Amino acid sequence: MTSPAIHPDAITDALPDLDAEVACEYALCDHPQCQCEAPAVWRVTTHCARNIDELRAGRCSTFSRPICESHLEDLRDIIADGLRCGPGTCMCGRRIAQMSDVLLEVSAL
Ligand SMILES: [Zn+2]
Ligand SMILES: [Zn+2]
Ligand SMILES: [Zn+2]
Repeated sequence: MTSPAIHPDAITDALPDLDAEVACEYALCDHPQCQCEAPAVWRVTTHCARNIDELRAGRCSTFSRPICESHLEDLRDIIADGLRCGPGTCMCGRRIAQMSDVLLEVSAL
């Protein structure tokens, strides 16, 4: 009995490609036209709806996702806009008093 040969390509395919560009996952929906084409440069942890179903249900999660440079700026603008009139309450009931209550962590990819 010989053990089945493992093709070297199969091993290479199973490993993550560290040089591969990571797509920006700013869009909450799956519509092809809504997806961002820019490569992500930040790993951003936010408190918000993770997808359209959560958004509709008024639920939130704290999760991280890869995001491109311009969408990180968008995200900051949206949060800053929301805080302009003072502290608010998230749709889940969580109090939002400052940027870091929504944008919890930003690290370079
Ligand atoms: Zn969409
Ligand atoms: Zn983007
Ligand atoms: Zn929330």
